[in-house]
Amino acid sequence: MERGRGKRAASPERKLQRKTPLAILGDPYLFFAPRDAMAVPKKRTSPRKRDQRRAQHDKVTAPNLSPCPNCEELMLSHRVCPACGFYRGRQVVEVAQE
Ligand SMILES: [Zn+2]
Repeated sequence: MERGRGKRAASPERKLQRKTPLAILGDPYLFFAPRDAMAVPKKRTSPRKRDQRRAQHDKVTAPNLSPCPNCEELMLSHRVCPACGFYRGRQVVEVAQE
């Protein structure tokens, strides 16, 4: 037997196409059947595509560094500069001098 070509149950849309309007009125299932079926994937996701999607979750990215306005040292934004201890133009943390 051919693979993937087995006999399937006809969808409500298929049944509606086959039957005469009078038969649809007489069939309680077809008469009340929902017209909009749920979205269903046509093909199973391959292991490669599935793993590519899941690999995005624990991806590591480099932090965005910007130069300190006081000492030009690269630092994380919205944080006290670890090199000079300045934040928003004033000294907030004492930094040990070498
Ligand atoms: Zn600084």
